[in-house]
Amino acid sequence: GMLDVRVRIKGESELARLAASFNSMASALELSEERQRRLIADVAHEMRTPLSNLRGYLEALSDGVVDPSPELFASLHEETLLQGRILDDLQVLALAEAGDLGYTRTPADLAELASAAVTAHRARAAEAGLELVLEAPAPVWVEADQDRLRQVLGNLLSNAIRYTDRDGRVVVRVGREDGEAVLTVRDTGVGIAAGDLPHVFERFWRADPARQRATGGTGLGLTIAHRIVTDHGGRIEVASQPHMGTTFTVRLPALSGPGRS
Ligand code: ADP
Repeated sequence: GMLDVRVRIKGESELARLAASFNSMASALELSEERQRRLIADVAHEMRTPLSNLRGYLEALSDGVVDPSPELFASLHEETLLQGRILDDLQVLALAEAGDLGYTRTPADLAELASAAVTAHRARAAEAGLELVLEAPAPVWVEADQDRLRQVLGNLLSNAIRYTDRDGRVVVRVGREDGEAVLTVRDTGVGIAAGDLPHVFERFWRADPARQRATGGTGLGLTIAHRIVTDHGGRIEVASQPHMGTTFTVRLPALSGPGRS
């Protein structure tokens, strides 16, 4: 790596211990340096395509090669919005990785949050020709940052809608299982191949870049959702069958009621 500051001392046990702990710090630093390098490379790669699209169109417009149409301006505008979303998501991710997201945890009813998220997505589901169903019969209390949980729900729901074809169905369910709060978002959509499943939570990973671009995703939604859920002491899992559908399951430690206990 770039960093070569390892200490090599044998014998004297104090010194050896010091050297060992110094070396493990150096490895951690090196690791985070390597991760930063990779992150920057990924971001540059992600932003290059929309930027060069934008530049190409602007040049064609100013050369009079294409006519200024409302559709063209709308799609250029869409490109800038997408870049804004990528930057917003990256900021959340960077703060989370630095342990600096500043969660404000209060008792929250997961059923109510799910219900609000479903309401917020009704119009989009209808537009996409999908049935959107909520099964959350009773309150399920968790200790959580409500805004961040809303973000998780929003990501899972908008993915379910985006990756499901017309006449499909999306079911959001909230319940309790073995002292855990369990949220599932199940769709009858395009599904994810078994070999791709281990990658879905990686940043910028997508099964089908063309479809993802057409639907305006950033490739960071699930990475952020995973981060937020694990920061809450929970787990997020995915099960899927191509052409049959996908189920995301979020498990969080449940509270026995709205009071803290
Ligand atoms: P984005 O949706 O912006 O691409 P995400 O991190 O939210 O980014 O998702 C990563 C990839 O996982 C998507 O591009 C898609 O290939 C796959 N994916 C996510 N949710 C679903 C789903 N409900 N059904 C099928 N594929 C999905």
